[in-house]
Amino acid sequence: MSEPFDIHDHRHQLKQLRESSDTGLYDNRDGVSCPVCAAVFDRLFILRGRTQQFPENDGARFCLLNQDDGVYLFRH
Ligand SMILES: [Zn+2]
Repeated sequence: MSEPFDIHDHRHQLKQLRESSDTGLYDNRDGVSCPVCAAVFDRLFILRGRTQQFPENDGARFCLLNQDDGVYLFRH
């Protein structure tokens, strides 16, 4: 069971590293927990475009949350 995740609720806890019209990358600097598995995540990557390549993955576990405004990828 996953809950909706609103980036604006966490903007003081997530440090924005990159932002474009189609993607956003945030660093979790305040122990925000993943809405999918409830464990603290490391980075949040938001993909808003219809066609997006997934960022290179180093083998870390990640969770996906599909929302109206994009796909949210929580990397642990
Ligand atoms: Zn997770």
